[in-house]
Amino acid sequence: MAAKEEGPAIGIDLGTTYSCVAMWKNDRVEIIANDQGSRTTPSYVAFTDKERFIGDAAKNQVDMNSKNTVYDAKRLIGRRFNDESVQRDMKLWPFKVVDGDGGKPMIVIKSKGEEKQLAPELVSSMILSKMRQIAEDFHGSTVKNAVITVPAYFNDSQRQATKDAGEIAGLNVMKIINEPTAAAIAYGLDKKNSGAGERNVLIFDLGGGTFDVSLLTIDKDTFQVKAIAGDTHLGGEDFDNNLVDHFVKEFRQKYKKDVSQKPRALQRLRSACERAKRTLSFTSQTSIHVDYLFQGIDFHSNISRTKFEELNMDLFSKCITQVENCLRDAKMDKSSVHDIVLVGGSTRIPKVQQLLKDFFNGKNLCKNINPDESVAYGAAIQAALLSGQGNETMQGLVLTDVTPLSLGVEVGGCIMSVLIPRNTTIPTKKEKVFSTGADFQSVVRIDVYEGERARTMDNNFLGRVSLFGILPAPRGFPQINVCFEIDENGILNVSAEDKTTGMTNKITITNDKGRMSRDEIEKMVKEAEKYEAEDKEYKKKVEAKLSLEGYVSHMRHIVKSEKITSKLPAGKKKKILGDINRVIEWLNESDEVVEANIYEDKKKELEIICRPVFEILSDDDGDIEVGIDDEAFLSYAMGGVKIEDVD
Ligand code: ADP
Ligand code: MG
Repeated sequence: MAAKEEGPAIGIDLGTTYSCVAMWKNDRVEIIANDQGSRTTPSYVAFTDKERFIGDAAKNQVDMNSKNTVYDAKRLIGRRFNDESVQRDMKLWPFKVVDGDGGKPMIVIKSKGEEKQLAPELVSSMILSKMRQIAEDFHGSTVKNAVITVPAYFNDSQRQATKDAGEIAGLNVMKIINEPTAAAIAYGLDKKNSGAGERNVLIFDLGGGTFDVSLLTIDKDTFQVKAIAGDTHLGGEDFDNNLVDHFVKEFRQKYKKDVSQKPRALQRLRSACERAKRTLSFTSQTSIHVDYLFQGIDFHSNISRTKFEELNMDLFSKCITQVENCLRDAKMDKSSVHDIVLVGGSTRIPKVQQLLKDFFNGKNLCKNINPDESVAYGAAIQAALLSGQGNETMQGLVLTDVTPLSLGVEVGGCIMSVLIPRNTTIPTKKEKVFSTGADFQSVVRIDVYEGERARTMDNNFLGRVSLFGILPAPRGFPQINVCFEIDENGILNVSAEDKTTGMTNKITITNDKGRMSRDEIEKMVKEAEKYEAEDKEYKKKVEAKLSLEGYVSHMRHIVKSEKITSKLPAGKKKKILGDINRVIEWLNESDEVVEANIYEDKKKELEIICRPVFEILSDDDGDIEVGIDDEAFLSYAMGGVKIEDVD
């Protein structure tokens, strides 16, 4: 967590389509209106020959300058150009996106006559600067400290990039928190159950372009994301588009002319439709007027709430299906949900509220905070707390989030050895000692993965830490301490230390490593459940194999050691070594992993054969140098990082 700087602290909901800023002032949360008097600001940035526009000004000129008006930066931030979702989204944007350095998507615009490439975090930083400016105008002084929210499914590369955007905007990002968590804080749900056990909260966030359902369990001060569902392309803009289609048809019928091929006319119609939609949340009927819509025709028409609902009913129903999916994934019955929180501007639509309420058998919804403001509201509370402001009722609220997937390293046999299990509360730090997998190995590679499967090939590769200059030693002897540390923002740092040489190396899992998307996370968790038995069986086999491998290699060194040689008759020694070598050869020859009991039986046989060696060891006065003790060696061998020579 970044230290607090002087001055006030704000909460920013950096949305895909609209952003919102709030701060704690005069003992309450203030949602801060922008220079247009709006409490939310479009997440739009536009460039012209002369100027740069941010927010309403940018959105208002989109129909005249679509190629240089950038929105949806949140769909790009912290992702790679090759991401499936980036490739899909690109097709829908009027602005150009190219493959930049290191696979980063770059937005191409023309500004003041010059072509420029902008990183998504730079675009987001412009929006954040605007939000900061709105807060400064309201507060009358510089504002530096901020809490910024991100979707629960954002991986650490997306979180890191969002944090970077804040820093580019000159903000001191005290913390990145999850949007659903912020909404739950806004309603004080974390304080409702003091001492009364867990509270299950369903956050229904239907915004401009995305729909997210999250099921949180709040236990004292811990927020755990139990399940997430939703649709990355479902929101207010789809309702606008359905209205546009409706009026395009009407225009065709009335005037026998087709507006649908005229992007600028469509854009103007779309703006009018968004306004009409908003009005229909409060009235049962409204009108729309677009002057000079097409070939000099002024378009005027009416629309009723009932018609609007009819046009969008399929989409509304989809939302409820996702709620069902979320509950099913969390293995929770709807009757166990304590609170349902409405988030996102589109939950102002009465029909959406009604369907949700009906689904929960008439249960009341938390909606007394404006749904498009509740995330910023919660972020402002969190910001005030972190900066030591706020009042008594807010005290004691320290937020925690959890890891969406298990994190670990690859060990021998391409097995995932988990350091931080899924759903661990962050920040967290875990260490584990590993060793080498081959004799006299000088380099180790520690491959970091996320995922729930036993085999690393089924998980997601995140990055590699290499350690060089390991002192020559038999396998299993060097001690490599691997440390995973996740900070408050969910950003992972992996470090490794060779305990003998003190040599260290580390990596931060950064943007270019393409972490998993929410869909992929869900898929992975489901697959892990499906293959649980199979994975367990495989792991058992590999562990038995590793244990045998470790045992033979260790015994070979002991038998060859001077002390044993001097005490063991030469013939006996030859026989034991011969038996050990045969097993080593057998292990080297077979690429396939066989049943665990085959390895176990071989090990038992060898243990009997090697008994004379252990008799010598136990008779000894204790100065025989065999390295680490058997128990320790076994645990190393089992957890032996695949740490193999690079060449
Ligand atoms: P984001 O998805 O970017 O977080 P919001 O939660 O602010 O954004 O939601 C924005 C969407 O909410 C827009 O599509 C907007 O048209 C819609 N919206 C805002 N107010 C209303 C309203 N009164 N009725 C219906 N939709 C609304
Ligand atoms: Mg939102």
